[in-house]
Amino acid sequence: MVLLNPGETVVRQEHCRMESRPGLLLLTNQRLLFEGRLTEGFLTQAFRGPRMATLLDAPLHQVSNAHLDRRLLGRPSLRVDLLGKFRTFRVSDAGAWFTAIAAAKQQADHPSPWTGQPSPVVLQVQAPPPPPPPPPAVVRVRCPYCRTVYDEAAGKCPSCGSPFY
Ligand SMILES: [Zn+2]
Repeated sequence: MVLLNPGETVVRQEHCRMESRPGLLLLTNQRLLFEGRLTEGFLTQAFRGPRMATLLDAPLHQVSNAHLDRRLLGRPSLRVDLLGKFRTFRVSDAGAWFTAIAAAKQQADHPSPWTGQPSPVVLQVQAPPPPPPPPPAVVRVRCPYCRTVYDEAAGKCPSCGSPFY
């Protein structure tokens, strides 16, 4: 089983041979993968059956080139350059694989600017203005001498002049 990354999709796949090893060649929009049989002892294989393992897991940026390996007889093979290492795949249509790898690599090298992620929006939030101070409480008092009602803040009776106490 090949585990795909989030956003990774299989572009092309084919059961073929990598060198002489049978397996499954997978091209995704991120990687070139080959899942094949592990080399095990004859008795182990006979007892357990063949075990599969990911024998190649190359991100597309490691795929530096691809060739159609033409032979005198039979269909051309697909040869892929992986940072100086070569892998040959006996696929049925090497030309179609070449085109698909080139397209996937170009897509990966020049990804669309639209990533599907919403761009972060910076909100300028202004603090609400502070509430106005409450009006000072007005305490009304009655003058004990002339019965005039006045504001306590005045300090003395505006009518008779007697001080507030
Ligand atoms: Zn008074």
